Amino acid sequence: MAEERKTLEQRHQMSDIERLRHSAAHVLATAILRIWPEAQFAAGPAVENGFYYDLDLKHRITPEDFAQIEAEMKKITKENQVFERKVVTRAEALELANKGRLGALSERATPSVFKIGNLEDIPEGEEISLYQNGDFVDLCAGPHVMRTGNIGAFKLTHVASAYYKGDEKNPQLQRVYGTAFKNKTEMEAYFTMLEEAKKRDHRKLGKELELFCFDEDVGPGLPLWLPNGTVLIEELEKLAKETEFAAGYDRVRTPHLARENMYLTSGHLPYYAESMFPPMELPLDDAAAMQDKQLRSSYTQLHEQLREHTLANPEQPLTGRGEELAKEITSLEKRIEELNSGSRYYLKAMNCPHHHKIFGAVPRSYRDLPLRLAEYGTCYRYEQSGELFGLMRVRSMQMNDAHLYCTEEQFESEFNAVNEMYLKYFKIFGIDKYLMRFSTHDPAKLGQKFVDAPELWKKTEDMVRNVLIKSGINFVEVPNEAAFYGPKIDVQVWSAIGREFTIATNQVDFAVPSRFGLVYKDRDNTEKTPLCIHRAPLGTHERFIGFLIEHYAGNFPLWLSPLQVRVMSLGDEEPLVEYARSIQAELRAEGIRAEVDVTNNNIKGKVLQAEQAKVHTMLVVGNRDLEAGNVSVRVHGQGNLGAKPRAEVIADIIQSAKERRA
Ligand SMILES: [Zn+2]
Ligand SMILES: [Zn+2]
Repeated sequence: MAEERKTLEQRHQMSDIERLRHSAAHVLATAILRIWPEAQFAAGPAVENGFYYDLDLKHRITPEDFAQIEAEMKKITKENQVFERKVVTRAEALELANKGRLGALSERATPSVFKIGNLEDIPEGEEISLYQNGDFVDLCAGPHVMRTGNIGAFKLTHVASAYYKGDEKNPQLQRVYGTAFKNKTEMEAYFTMLEEAKKRDHRKLGKELELFCFDEDVGPGLPLWLPNGTVLIEELEKLAKETEFAAGYDRVRTPHLARENMYLTSGHLPYYAESMFPPMELPLDDAAAMQDKQLRSSYTQLHEQLREHTLANPEQPLTGRGEELAKEITSLEKRIEELNSGSRYYLKAMNCPHHHKIFGAVPRSYRDLPLRLAEYGTCYRYEQSGELFGLMRVRSMQMNDAHLYCTEEQFESEFNAVNEMYLKYFKIFGIDKYLMRFSTHDPAKLGQKFVDAPELWKKTEDMVRNVLIKSGINFVEVPNEAAFYGPKIDVQVWSAIGREFTIATNQVDFAVPSRFGLVYKDRDNTEKTPLCIHRAPLGTHERFIGFLIEHYAGNFPLWLSPLQVRVMSLGDEEPLVEYARSIQAELRAEGIRAEVDVTNNNIKGKVLQAEQAKVHTMLVVGNRDLEAGNVSVRVHGQGNLGAKPRAEVIADIIQSAKERRA
């Protein structure tokens, strides 16, 4: 896959930290050239969490070289060189490149080959600029920080290999990665967070806590949920269903696949085809097969006639009868395609088209609106195998989906209610830091990247913006990133250790309902097309649980804990065992997942085992507890909380689960 150049627009949007990291890439190149002046540099962008620079060099750079390179980088930041920008003509840039002067400290015998290639990628008419710090001159559109001294802290992290411009036909280069920060404190916090993230890795904890697994025979990217993981799923669904019920949603159910025709209507095909599993071809039924055979036989005949006609009229084969024949052939091709398209089925990549069909299944009046159709729908996406990553990138996913159909007048309050739902969930899960990225359209790209409906864009974007401002929600506006058919909001949340996750997207959709011919009868008896809001606050189970595992480090709150309570006896004497079992029974009768450990194993061993399994609440009962009607309470992560009356403890557990306490 070829790597794309950043557009000017993207460059303007580069954040402070991205500028700093990209500047660090220049410093890295400067340092490498001081050690290996012959190095040939290609591209050195800022990337998520850091930067890299691609280079060609005989010496293979390894982590053992990092200390030397970093020491040189340190000198360069101490020198506090200014990053100077200079606009040049294409000819001037090419001349420098031919002298080996680009991505270099001085002129060299060998031309700057990769920079010449980069120069070719700059569109005609776009300004060409150089950036210089000290002796280092680079072909670069920027932007940069003011001085090398602005890079307060940096570290090289690893080396990989990469093809020039991401194309395997091109030479393979060394890619040196690093990261950079404003200051040391921020960098240290980042590496501490990485350490913690490793301990909380959802793939590692998922295995240890027996939450989910993957199996080669089932297929990559298709998670199997074990009983413990299924508890998480069902608790989340319970929460979603209660919340959505209270908010006036209706639940629906739809199959996991549909005919090609529907995805042609929705526009998923052909635009989204790459992300869908290839179609299943079903045999045609007898009648259709007969029809297909007839059509194909006429098709062959027509072709034969056209061939004869062409031979007879070699000068103008497609005039007169030839033109007619060509037309008939095209129309036959279309009919054959339509007939066969009905036997092609796709696994659904999204629930929307199915829900639109449900909207359209019944005549709707303005009285039915807003109509809110909800489903925990399973979707399938054909992610490239290299992209698959634990639960975060999968091929089957269960989505907390709903589609809200409403009038323009209802839109603001509906959208606001969706946001309120997000905030409610954030509170339950202790998500303190979040951001809504509000993506809008670019009027210059109407009719290409965005549906050509300027008024609706303006109206819906204004409405969304109003809701966001009024509700005081934390948001940023990003132009030119809307979906094809309306503005969207990506919801980013930060886990307890400060790592960022994108969990959900809300979209406003004013194009697809009309593609499906969805209408409602308005007060004035005219037919109108509803607006549609796609929303999924809890994202997919896969991604959201992946997030929760890291967020809680596997120490789920009581309500969510797969193992809520374990009652452990101090010994296996009959009355004690009975006491333990009666507590378990009482809890289970209230829907609490309680189990017992009434073996005669040492209590220390029992507790250790329960702690390791991250059982939320451990209730220890001995003879003294039995006599007093008490239980000794131990909570995972909090230690021993002492003996308390049995009834009080049980009531508290039930209440905590019911309130979904943190
Ligand atoms: Zn640069
Ligand atoms: Zn949707």
